[in-house]
Amino acid sequence: MALQSRSPQQPDDVVVEVEEADAGAVAAAVERARAAGARWAGASALERSAALTAAADALAVAADELTGLMVREVGKPVTEAAAEAARGVGILRYYAQQALDPDGETYPGASPEALLLARRRPRGVAGLITPWNFPVAIPLWKAAPALAFGNAVLLKPSPDATAVALRLAGLLGGALPDDLLQVLPGGAGTGQAMLDGVDCVSFTGSVAVGRRVAVAATERGLPSQAEMGGLNASIVLAGADPERAAGVIAGAAMGYAGQKCTATSRAIVVGDPGPFTEALVAAVQGLAVGDPADKDTVVGPVITEQARRKVVEAAAEAAAAGGRLLTGGRAGNGAGWFVAPTLVDGLDPGARLAQEEVFGPIAVILPVADEDEAVRVANGVRYGLVASVFTGDLDRALRLAARLDTGLIRVNAPTSGVDFLAPFGGEKDSSFGPREQGKAARELYTSTRTVTVLPHQG
Ligand code: NAD
Repeated sequence: MALQSRSPQQPDDVVVEVEEADAGAVAAAVERARAAGARWAGASALERSAALTAAADALAVAADELTGLMVREVGKPVTEAAAEAARGVGILRYYAQQALDPDGETYPGASPEALLLARRRPRGVAGLITPWNFPVAIPLWKAAPALAFGNAVLLKPSPDATAVALRLAGLLGGALPDDLLQVLPGGAGTGQAMLDGVDCVSFTGSVAVGRRVAVAATERGLPSQAEMGGLNASIVLAGADPERAAGVIAGAAMGYAGQKCTATSRAIVVGDPGPFTEALVAAVQGLAVGDPADKDTVVGPVITEQARRKVVEAAAEAAAAGGRLLTGGRAGNGAGWFVAPTLVDGLDPGARLAQEEVFGPIAVILPVADEDEAVRVANGVRYGLVASVFTGDLDRALRLAARLDTGLIRVNAPTSGVDFLAPFGGEKDSSFGPREQGKAARELYTSTRTVTVLPHQG
């Protein structure tokens, strides 16, 4: 079956049309990956490191081209897309170095002469299933550590980001041995088929699919990790500068049309919400919405017509539930999948918009009386990816940070934004399995083998 991906700002622009990888193609790719992976695992760490450095160089040379393709295929505003391409280069360089890190630990043996070692070794073939929203950074923050530690990689990208995945693999492929990194274009069926052949699985996407993938992997005895949705809160404490907080939160909620797992969906305001609400509405209305190829654009289109409908329907449902539409709520005119950045207040924290991820440019303002209520509301959802706190009072920030059920906490910073050298992941329904990125990535992509060596005599 052929798969098409279309540009969200110009849906009649078919970016790529390719055959989906069916079960036979997946099985053949697994076999090639297994052979390439065995050779790669036998290469020296210095060789692997050099190849990843060469891959980073190749990406750096083609960064502008890849940026343009991201803009076209997923509608990412060009300034963010360029930053993502640069981040991809950084990720490859970082893991090129990690390939040279110690590959295990020694423990006290039975005698001073004896050796007791726990050495890391690759799993074999790593299967990656990725979403469309960070089509360069997410595949790379999975593939780079997998490769650094000696695995082969099969990447099943989102159908909506197929062209970027194929180009990325083409660029890296010039620096890597044949068949070591292969892309399997396709949807759910291709992803499921891949699970039958690989040795570990790393997934990023929605909660519903991530759960299914983790269950399927566990049934096959495969280690897996799943990074899933978020419904991230920014807490604005009394005394915080409302204008500054509003400026940061507007960007975190609406930038890239809110299509980040780390986007702010809930602004929780302690005390009088008036000044902050006014400032947030102004900041959101001031964001440049439009052609993602324009370097000033902050909010481009959403990925599909269905995604746009979801945002408009969520706004209408919120209004019907007693919410007040402060701005937005309408689909844009014209050909692309544009929707106006939307803010709602007057809702109960239990309302659907305050409980479920929409994955678009829509956020809710929730006033609370005090810090205790802020913590209750922030934690009162099934997600737990990231929270941010705005305050000039470090003690209060630390107190709150200790009570928030999220994997990432950011003070006076947007919920969005990821440092690839630190562990990344959430709590509750947002994540499953070991953390990604930084040094934490080693947990999924390696296993340990404990080796005991005693003296031959004596
Ligand atoms: P999605 O869950 O629809 O798809 C993710 C991937 O899973 C795609 O490659 C898809 O083809 C594949 N897939 C779908 N059904 C499958 C199945 N049954 N078996 C195997 N694979 C299957 O997500 P999406 O719409 O591409 O991305 C948006 C979601 O991703 C949002 O929920 C967002 O919060 C989340 N996300 C999370 C993070 C994070 O790190 N936590 C980062 C980015 C995006």
